[in-house]
Amino acid sequence: MYDFHIHSDFSVDCKYLMEEMVQSAVEKGIKSICFTDHIDYDLSGDGINFEFRPVDYFKKINQMKYKYMGQIEILSGVEIGMQPHLVQRYNGLIDNHPFDFVIMSIHSIDKKDIYIDQFTRGKKPMEALNIYYDYLYNCLEKFDNYDVVGHIDYIDRYFEDFSLIPDFKEYSSNIENILKIIIEKGKGLEVNTAGMRYKLGYYNPKAEILKLYKELGGEIVTIGSDAHNPEHIGYHYREAEKMLRDLGFKYTYIYRDRKKVPIHIN
Ligand SMILES: [Zn+2]
Ligand SMILES: [Zn+2]
Repeated sequence: MYDFHIHSDFSVDCKYLMEEMVQSAVEKGIKSICFTDHIDYDLSGDGINFEFRPVDYFKKINQMKYKYMGQIEILSGVEIGMQPHLVQRYNGLIDNHPFDFVIMSIHSIDKKDIYIDQFTRGKKPMEALNIYYDYLYNCLEKFDNYDVVGHIDYIDRYFEDFSLIPDFKEYSSNIENILKIIIEKGKGLEVNTAGMRYKLGYYNPKAEILKLYKELGGEIVTIGSDAHNPEHIGYHYREAEKMLRDLGFKYTYIYRDRKKVPIHIN
């Protein structure tokens, strides 16, 4: 098992030490984990600071690597909250630090956090989806310094009532354009198993998106639990792998030093 989306107390929304996360992963027999703590620049969300100091982060990860050597592989990643005006700033961060893996997520729109500022409230469901996916498309056109797009249909989690989420057919053309640009640029999609914990009843992306991605020629997928506590590490890994196999994927991928490595799905 591998888990390529894990948080620690370097993320403001996680209170567990890196070491607690590592110990849980070791107990669960996971081969490699990648910490992907949050950096979300320029976020108005209630004054909460979703950033860490890279120097402290790498120091701690290196300590963990040394201490747990031979028991588990520990990699250093980051989950960035992208907004179009932050391209240069994120390039600076990523080019100047030895990250193994970069997840690009959309957590906010025009400096407003989707969750904290209740982005979907007061909008018609299709209007909210269109704004979100146009925003993502705009980021994808401008920015290339990432490996996978995180939880691509994240917006679904923040509908007050999940029954309001429009049918996939109503916005599949938006998604198709997004997937094409991801594929063209040689990037991948993350399968984020936390969707199941949000009671959505599916992973993010949902199977329809993964199916379309495969049909369009997309091959690169990673699996991550988005664990913010030790018990969720490796959450639904086998089930996600099985779903991918059923959809025709032969490999999932992990990343070291920003280079992808295929893992055969058994
Ligand atoms: Zn995220
Ligand atoms: Zn995350």
